Amino acid sequence: MSEASLPAHIDPLKWADRDAPFVASLPVQRFQRLLAGLPENAGAVQVTCRLRRDPRGLVLLTGELHADVVMTCQRCLDAVTIPVAADMSLFLLPDEELAERLDESEDYVVYDEGHCDLLAVLEDELILALPLVPRHDDCEPAVVLAEPETDVPVAQKENPFLVLAGLKRQDTDSE
Ligand SMILES: [Zn+2]
Repeated sequence: MSEASLPAHIDPLKWADRDAPFVASLPVQRFQRLLAGLPENAGAVQVTCRLRRDPRGLVLLTGELHADVVMTCQRCLDAVTIPVAADMSLFLLPDEELAERLDESEDYVVYDEGHCDLLAVLEDELILALPLVPRHDDCEPAVVLAEPETDVPVAQKENPFLVLAGLKRQDTDSE
């Protein structure tokens, strides 16, 4: 299946009733929030997922995401390729009230009826799967050539992923 087969918005109920697996390789460029903190934007995200109704009639999204994401190593400050994998299992609910039918351990997102931004859902899962402190397995700390009278190391630069992770946590808290 090609990238074209993932529309901007889907109706999860229709997709679930079709019960066909969705398999695609999506260019990383389609994930703009993910790219905000990355030094490179090459590569692709491998998506294998499926929407189906569980016995309660609720739509469950399951599947896997795989991507080689280029991040900035927090030790040597060079680029490091991180293999990222996410296992998904979450309910797509058209109405917050339906969440009452779920167990506490079951994750969900609420969408506007008929218009679920599946790409955004996948992107959230991918961002959550990124390491907060990406590093090579084996590398030397960056040598910081501090100018006289300034000794602020480059490594203190704000890590955009820590910012993203902070935002994400706030989102989750407000649910
Ligand atoms: Zn490194």
